[in-house]
Amino acid sequence: KKYTKEQLIELVQKESVEFIHLQFTDIMGVMKNISITCEQLEKALDNEIMFDGSSIDGFVRIDESDMYLRPDLDTFRIFPWSGEYKEARLICDVYNSDGTPFKGCPRNALKRTVNEAKEMGYTMNVGPECEFFLFHTDEKGEPSLNTHDNAGYFDLAPADLGGNARKDMIITLKKMGFNIEASHHENAPGQHEIDFEYADAVTTADNIMTFKMVVRIVAQRHGLHATFMPKPKNNMAGSGMHLNISLAHLDGKNAFYDENDKMQFTDVAYSFLGGLLTHAKAFTAITNPTINSYKRLVAGYEAPVMIAWAEGNRSPLIRIPSKKGASTRIELRSPDPSANPYLALAVTLKSGIDGIKNNIRPTNGVKNNLYDMEEQDLRDQGIDRLPTNLKEALIEFSKDEFMKKALGNHLYERTIDAALYEWNKYSKFVTEWEIDRYLMKF
Ligand code: GLU
Ligand code: MG
Ligand code: MG
Repeated sequence: KKYTKEQLIELVQKESVEFIHLQFTDIMGVMKNISITCEQLEKALDNEIMFDGSSIDGFVRIDESDMYLRPDLDTFRIFPWSGEYKEARLICDVYNSDGTPFKGCPRNALKRTVNEAKEMGYTMNVGPECEFFLFHTDEKGEPSLNTHDNAGYFDLAPADLGGNARKDMIITLKKMGFNIEASHHENAPGQHEIDFEYADAVTTADNIMTFKMVVRIVAQRHGLHATFMPKPKNNMAGSGMHLNISLAHLDGKNAFYDENDKMQFTDVAYSFLGGLLTHAKAFTAITNPTINSYKRLVAGYEAPVMIAWAEGNRSPLIRIPSKKGASTRIELRSPDPSANPYLALAVTLKSGIDGIKNNIRPTNGVKNNLYDMEEQDLRDQGIDRLPTNLKEALIEFSKDEFMKKALGNHLYERTIDAALYEWNKYSKFVTEWEIDRYLMKF
């Protein structure tokens, strides 16, 4: 533990922090905030801050609405962009009024999976790669789809707004305790990626939420709009959130690395991989939860379409990076940044654990670029597809009983409700594409 309650109160006084934001994430992956003044901090640290859960999307019904926030002391951070009054935040777990963990709190759900792994002797480590677009805002401050940037992958940062904003994001993230490992311009104009160091699953999910908040705030200060929408523009790459996953033994040693194996993988790594492949169809509704997510999962843009794995190739769902030893890991390439990171990590890690528990063996890896393979060859090799839209994903999600176990009934049902609502709205809406295509023709 980094801070005790007393140390934190002292720190807030010493730093003259005026406002503290108590943050938590709802089922849709949206960060919620309750702000308190520094005088209320002690009450907050005694877990006495209450809020009305029924006002949060998909949380609870009116008759069970008193919810309590339990701040995680280690997540205390001062906002480097504070103005005249210093502000800080604490990330919280949501509890019921009877003192039990609230079943609809995504962070609690992830903790359950993490504890299950711990009982098996493992810590789960995850390093995410968040991609995003920076767009210009117009005179009214509304976001556009313009980038004024023609750079591509790894191009030297052009002396444009985007490059400067990215530098500012990195400095701000560093001030908040992030270790930034790399950052670069991505494939599409206006598309960027900033990678930070891996950590245990809960810390990483917290970091992803913080990362998105910081990127949006800094972009705004540069007159830009940052979006984590998976596929904002046609005919170019979308934004992914690759997850680099590994297990460590409780002594910290990588549990995926075996120098004597031909792929330098342990049995544990192979069955974790097997578990991911087995449940991939079902967990896609969580790792890719929006209508727009499925416009990214198409051939030709380095996003996965097929449920397969490879050592080098970037077209399948899972890639095994060549760097081994302490950094042996599995790169899951389907998740996108519209996913709720707590739930995305809960279902993927739980799938891997299921692989270990049931000794699931992965299918053979693939060598070819999957985008170029014929339908018949894919079928012959037994290679299946990821769901192609949210409705299909939802059907796969509800077919796999295991997902209910991974999330618990409450989150499982609310996820289905939310996705169905989204799908029903979308399927009624006449799009521009249809008008272009059919208005003249029929
Ligand atoms: N933007 C690509 C995606 O949608 C990934 C590019 C990369 O390999 O970093 O997943
Ligand atoms: Mg990338
Ligand atoms: Mg990657």
